[in-house]
Amino acid sequence: MTFAALGLSAPLLKALVELDYEHPTPVQAAAIPPMLQGRDLWASAQTGSGKTAAFVLPILERLEATARVQALIVAPTRELAVQTEQAIARYGRHLDFPVVTCVAVGGAPIERQIQTLAAGAQIVVATPGRLLDLLEQGALSLTKLQTLVLDEADRLLSLGFHDELTALQKRLPTDLQRVLFSATFPPKVVALAELMLRDPIRINLDAGTAPGRERIEQRVIEVDESQRSRLLIHLLHVHAWPQLLVFVASRRAADDVALELSRAGFRAWPLHGELGQDTRTQTLADFKARRFQVLVATDLAARGLDIVQLPAVLNFDLPRSAADYTHRIGRTGRAGETGVAVSFVSVNNAGHFRLIEKRHHIQPEREQIPGFEPRDLTPAVRDVNGGIKGKRKSKKDKLREAKRS
Ligand code: AMP
Repeated sequence: MTFAALGLSAPLLKALVELDYEHPTPVQAAAIPPMLQGRDLWASAQTGSGKTAAFVLPILERLEATARVQALIVAPTRELAVQTEQAIARYGRHLDFPVVTCVAVGGAPIERQIQTLAAGAQIVVATPGRLLDLLEQGALSLTKLQTLVLDEADRLLSLGFHDELTALQKRLPTDLQRVLFSATFPPKVVALAELMLRDPIRINLDAGTAPGRERIEQRVIEVDESQRSRLLIHLLHVHAWPQLLVFVASRRAADDVALELSRAGFRAWPLHGELGQDTRTQTLADFKARRFQVLVATDLAARGLDIVQLPAVLNFDLPRSAADYTHRIGRTGRAGETGVAVSFVSVNNAGHFRLIEKRHHIQPEREQIPGFEPRDLTPAVRDVNGGIKGKRKSKKDKLREAKRS
């Protein structure tokens, strides 16, 4: 299968040759022809599957030079929006007119975005909040819109953008191609797809499974929570991964772990939502340019990061949801590369990890590393909000206690 056979023309094919894309990935082969025909589409596709090109290439193929917004791509995070804009620039560089894209995201000055729109952007890549601001201010008109893409729809909803998307739906022209990409299809996403799409083509390549499982080695290491930093440093010495993305659960943990690694002599930086936008952008750019080795990130900040050939990711803290596990390990083993995804599991979160395993039908072997064997054998009893199942008083226990006193 070739890109030419999918119906793309010379300026795009030239860019793809320059980028060394030899063949379309499965999601590209399935999505590009119906998108070129203007059909609505619902595609289950993981990050790393080549999904960005799957919708950007047909948008560029159909793009006209005229200065009006023809395509709108809605993304869950600023980082993903910026990456999509970069993909548009890469794939569209040989078109015979300049492609103007407005990245409409929060945390950046709105005035500049308004100027880019006024100058005649053909494509807008936006996060939902800023998109609605621009619509409400009358700075963005969707009357000539031809294609709407909701990228990472599951993430859009899990970040709480349901109301924004419903508000957007009311402002869309009726005659419009609508496309929805999502790694997972929980009921909320299905409901959104049903609201937004009309008679969509469904592309379901590997729904419900972890991305490119055959390319990602999943390791699970049992370790006490208090020993995780030491073990992380040990693994960095042993494996000498040129780059590693470490996931943690909170801003504070990101700062702390990055600091501990720095003290141990590794070049490590944190990435989380409470850093200023400039710092986040710079940290990400430095990591992509391989100017430092370890990025310690929270889920939100790391969402959608496209770092080519990331050899390893490590779950220092487990993700809250099974879907996030998929997103996290999808940062490695991208586009045909191999990668390793390591998860630290302690007595406190072993039950939670079993749920993730069950959901993804996986069962990686448990490992213990000599010198770091777990000693904590009973789960910590946390307060009610900390939520360790089985350790909280049941209703029955509480009633019994009340009767006794
Ligand atoms: P995505 O799933 O859109 O985040 O893309 C993952 C990575 O795959 C990006 O680095 C793309 O540049 C790369 N990629 C996308 N399509 C192809 C292709 N057909 N051949 C080789 N690499 C690709």
